[in-house]
Amino acid sequence: MTAQLINGKEKASEIYTALRDKISALPSKPKLAIILVGNDEASLIYVRNKQKAADLVGITAELFHLPENTEETELLQLIDTLNTDSQTNGVIVQLPLPDHLNTHKIINRISPLKDVDGFNPYNTGMLQNNEKPYFIAATPLGIMKLLHDVCPKLTGKNVVIIGASLIVGRPLATLLLNNECTVTVTHIHTRFIEELTRQADILIAACGVAKLVKQDWIKQGAILIDVGINRENGRICGDIDFEDVKDKASALTPVPGGVGPMTVAMLLQNTVNAYLLQNPSL
Ligand code: NAD
Repeated sequence: MTAQLINGKEKASEIYTALRDKISALPSKPKLAIILVGNDEASLIYVRNKQKAADLVGITAELFHLPENTEETELLQLIDTLNTDSQTNGVIVQLPLPDHLNTHKIINRISPLKDVDGFNPYNTGMLQNNEKPYFIAATPLGIMKLLHDVCPKLTGKNVVIIGASLIVGRPLATLLLNNECTVTVTHIHTRFIEELTRQADILIAACGVAKLVKQDWIKQGAILIDVGINRENGRICGDIDFEDVKDKASALTPVPGGVGPMTVAMLLQNTVNAYLLQNPSL
């Protein structure tokens, strides 16, 4: 393998150490409320990982696990309660929600000051305007941290993102644009996608299609960031065919151990920032 491995697990562990030190100096523990509706298998694993990591750094993560058939009004009421609870610093709703619930309406109800997932329109709008939001979505934020290490000067870089979701592709495109990159966002309806990806100095795959990106999709020496988490023959793999590209790229993230651990670390960092935001005298 000639490409540099971008080790998200190691980077996340450094962030955990810094957070643990910071939290131990606070007068009380920051608190994160996690709302989970239903029993989606992947969501249960993600929530458990978030709780474990929170525990490790000294954040109290309280899970509100509601049944699949929870009514919208009930969920909105819970969010209202948590928004006004002075002991709760961050509130997140694990996505996806069951089909009968309006995701936008629910996310929009979280106070922008407690929206540690950074999905509330106040925070996304501030990011879009290149102003300072209270919080930026954890996955894009984690990717930016990894990118700054391997590519400290982002200005002028050609970046192609595969995937235009609200939680990854769109906020990431905005962050990169705010860092003076030239950004192309592609999606399921993009035609001749390989012609675009081959232009990329930095290629970010976030589409949820196992091993979609092959060697002939990338430019020699490209930096590759793989956001995808897919299961193939009982094993986890990304959206990039790691074995196929590893001798052509200059640097790339593995799956698992790349973007995933950074997402959790950034959520916890946002929670500590929420605590400090709500306790301005500290
Ligand atoms: P999503 O389903 O909301 O969006 C997928 C996007 O990819 C859409 O814009 C769609 O048009 C595009 N797309 C789908 N198939 C495509 C194709 N063949 N070619 C080009 N574009 C295509 O997904 P999401 O929530 O953004 O998640 C994407 C992937 O990233 C999933 O595998 C998810 O599990 C993973 N994910 C990982 C993390 C992490 O922390 N590592 C965080 C969030 C999501």
